[in-house]
Amino acid sequence: MSRIAFVNGEFVPHGEAYVHVEDRGYQFADGVYEVCEIKDGQIIDLDGHITRLQYSLSELQIAMPMAQAALVVKMRQTVTRNYVKNGMIYLQVTRGVSPRNHVFPPAGVKSSIVLTAKSVSPMSKINLYKNGVAVISVPENRWARPDIKSIGLLPNCMAKQEAKEQGAFEAWFVDDDGMVVEGSSSNAWIINQDNEIITKSADGSILKGITRAAILQQIKDQKLTIIERAFSLREAILAKEAFISSATTIVMPVVKIDNHLVAGGKVGAMAKKMLESFYHYAEKTDI
Ligand code: PMP
Repeated sequence: MSRIAFVNGEFVPHGEAYVHVEDRGYQFADGVYEVCEIKDGQIIDLDGHITRLQYSLSELQIAMPMAQAALVVKMRQTVTRNYVKNGMIYLQVTRGVSPRNHVFPPAGVKSSIVLTAKSVSPMSKINLYKNGVAVISVPENRWARPDIKSIGLLPNCMAKQEAKEQGAFEAWFVDDDGMVVEGSSSNAWIINQDNEIITKSADGSILKGITRAAILQQIKDQKLTIIERAFSLREAILAKEAFISSATTIVMPVVKIDNHLVAGGKVGAMAKKMLESFYHYAEKTDI
């Protein structure tokens, strides 16, 4: 079955989905993106992702490419046209096409929009959930605005590549004080020996994960203890449990950090329970 992409107002075959060479996303990484999970034919946390899209765009003074309601219609159509029941939708907005110049284009240049969707078998992650994953630590070397979901992801790509080369699933950015910031494409969490769940507060130095917000809600509803503060790499290594969160991994247990096993390398009970009950708390939108 051939895939279909939505590019600047038109649905086109995926293999023929192109943007202009002077799209500012291509030349300057001047754009933002969102990734939503599609689960059992529903879009997970759509409102949260749209709200964050608007935040990223407004921080960069990029105009919404179309009215929000129209955008949601196009997202739904992208999902149905690709027959996605389980998988993900990718949305990217850039500052549009204009002769290369660092200065923003003149008024009237429209933002570019690209939507793609693809199926991902839920089975593909089963073993990872069961056995947990390894993470490596890398020095934080990103710009000071990780709260904006920018498509400028080179440090994230380099970190993830290093993780892959070391046989790990994710890389955690660690700041000059030895504190874990977040993953290259996920938020980072630990549970200490007192069963306190700890994650860095969304104070502008991390991406305010939509999955993170749903997990926080779940923790509050279940009357578990949450502390939003930074934790050190050392604390993480000594933790009872560790996990990462994102729209594509939900709650993924971490069993190894660099060369250290977390809790003997076994998947923790709390992370497992949080994954199991996640979808009771996440917002679901029918396609
Ligand atoms: N941090 C970074 C750097 C990310 O790229 C992501 C994934 N988009 C996350 C955190 C998790 O965000 P979300 O739960 O919204 O997918």
